Amino acid sequence: MNERKLTIETKSPAETEALGERIGRAVEEGVVIALIGDLGAGKTQLTKGIAVGLDVPGLIHSPTFNLIHEHAGRLPIYHFDLYRLNSPHDLDDLGAESYFYGEGVSVVEWAERAGDRLPADRLEIRIAADDEHRIFDITATGDESSKSLSRIQYPASRIKK
Ligand code: ADP
Ligand code: MG
Repeated sequence: MNERKLTIETKSPAETEALGERIGRAVEEGVVIALIGDLGAGKTQLTKGIAVGLDVPGLIHSPTFNLIHEHAGRLPIYHFDLYRLNSPHDLDDLGAESYFYGEGVSVVEWAERAGDRLPADRLEIRIAADDEHRIFDITATGDESSKSLSRIQYPASRIKK
């Protein structure tokens, strides 16, 4: 399995959005971005940037009451917020598989709640927060996500490891 990693630190919400934009520009169709981090970590902030990078017009908001919002961009973006998901099983009723394995880009907040419903090949982003600092640990867990990760353009000086 082709696994890749990238760790990036941001120091403001704007920097997080800019990182998201670079990710959004890099991802190819069908990629699933799994966001894992506490409340306030910056999952939605990053997603806003990803949407900008995918040329989605207008601002996106957290899909608090609907578990999923779809937006049209360079590729469709399926924005999930699974905070209120009771069990991975409930994803089946939402038809989540057709999104995860569809041609758009899925961005999943609280991805750990999806359990085994998440595709094995995904861009997994773990966010650790400390004041205004955020560490984004990005792991591509398969060939498709690795291709997208290798396309992320980020100044070498800002990459932690
Ligand atoms: P989540 O979706 O993970 O619950 P949000 O993206 O909604 O989190 O909120 C992140 C919060 O943290 C915002 O209030 C934002 O202003 C603040 N923040 C402070 N520093 C950063 C940073 N470096 N990156 C992202 N958000 C930050
Ligand atoms: Mg959020």
